[in-house]
Amino acid sequence: MIDDEYDVVVIGAGPSGSNAAKAAAERGASVLLIEKRQEIGAPKRCGEGISARGLRELGIEPSPRWALNEIMGVHIYAPNGKRVSVRYKEVGGYVIERKMFDKFLAMEAARAGAKVVAKAQATGLIIEDGFVKGVKIRWLDEDIEVRCKVVIAADGVESQVARWAGINSTHKLRDIDSAFQYEMVVELEEPDMLELYFGNKIAPRGYVWIFPKGKDVANVGIGIGGDIKGVTAKELLDKFIKNHEKLKHGSIIEVNSGGVPVGKPLDKLVSNGLMIVGDAAHQVNAIHGGGVYEGSIAGRIAGEVCAKAIENGDVSEKALREYEIRWREKRGEALMRIYKLRQAIELLSDEDLNMLADNLSGEDIVELTKGKRFEKLVKVLMKKPELIEVAQKLL
Ligand SMILES: Cc1cc2nc3c(=O)[nH]c(=O)nc-3n(C[C@H](O)[C@H](O)[C@H](O)COP(=O)(O)OP(=O)(O)OC[C@H]3O[C@@H](n4cnc5c(N)ncnc54)[C@H](O)[C@@H]3O)c2cc1C
Repeated sequence: MIDDEYDVVVIGAGPSGSNAAKAAAERGASVLLIEKRQEIGAPKRCGEGISARGLRELGIEPSPRWALNEIMGVHIYAPNGKRVSVRYKEVGGYVIERKMFDKFLAMEAARAGAKVVAKAQATGLIIEDGFVKGVKIRWLDEDIEVRCKVVIAADGVESQVARWAGINSTHKLRDIDSAFQYEMVVELEEPDMLELYFGNKIAPRGYVWIFPKGKDVANVGIGIGGDIKGVTAKELLDKFIKNHEKLKHGSIIEVNSGGVPVGKPLDKLVSNGLMIVGDAAHQVNAIHGGGVYEGSIAGRIAGEVCAKAIENGDVSEKALREYEIRWREKRGEALMRIYKLRQAIELLSDEDLNMLADNLSGEDIVELTKGKRFEKLVKVLMKKPELIEVAQKLL
């Protein structure tokens, strides 16, 4: 079923890999997309939120098979309990079923002509004359070698592929959030609103989220700084749930955990015959940890560029760098601004966060998470002399 040779081998069938495979196949490349898990998309490691705008930009029509719940706004809670809200005039996003969504994306890649194979794990790269020339694969209980012109590493937060090619893709502990989540059946007051809770006691350097998947089902999760000592993400989430009027009566139908790469995107995204996309390249929104849209966009660009490079007969780092340039223009600069914002916000005390809730609107906060409206935040921070230094980080 797996041939000896393809133009492109994509490692990892998450959103980044499937989008890369689809884009490359649509442009005429022969593509193999491999996934080590036996079921693409499962188990999920995701709060499953995605913006309507993100889907539109990707040209993906929300389907009731995976777009389970329409989101009309967000309630944001400051450490002192003050609530700041934003309500959209139209659907702002969806809580999706990643198990179905990831499969849908992989099927789209297959429909575009890519060969998709689950339970096939990359175990090493074939490197010759300074170029990546293929992938060693453990497929079911067989070891095989597949040769190719380009490998796309879309192997997620625990990525190894880039390292096999000599690119340092490790994270500092501080730059990887530790996340824990329950999918719960629970009484929800407003199933069309996301809820986010901030505070250094609630979720140090992170937040707790309630993302409704329907009228009485929600992902209830937490992300905290990966280097927080003395308490785990699970312990803090359990404490939050125990103290919550409604959640404490809920039932747990799924447990998820994982790391979120919230540091800077990798400086180097390509080398001879290799491209890195998605979580593997740290292409995630450092404020809210969302990476489905980010990885999908990066995957699309990488797929397009690699098909073009193959057609032109040049898969050198220089030729593949077009992906890096296009991605930095499209998303890289915005992600760097968002990373800068995270670094500033991490310096704030609970009292400072309460002050922000008093001075910013819900819309301001949502725009900030997109890397916009920094001037507004700077103005608010400047009101407190001891925060001037923090404000300067945003200029
Ligand atoms: C608890 C939690 C909540 C989150 N909530 C959200 C959210 O609400 N919205 C959002 O946008 N993002 C969220 N994220 C982040 C989001 O899940 C990731 O950014 C996104 O999945 C990245 O996509 P990817 O394709 O790059 O990587 P992944 O989705 O991780 O896919 C990588 C794939 O590669 C496979 N793989 C790894 N190694 C190999 C190998 N050697 N051979 C073959 N296959 C391999 C893996 O099995 C995996 O399927 C959350 C993350 C966590 C942990």
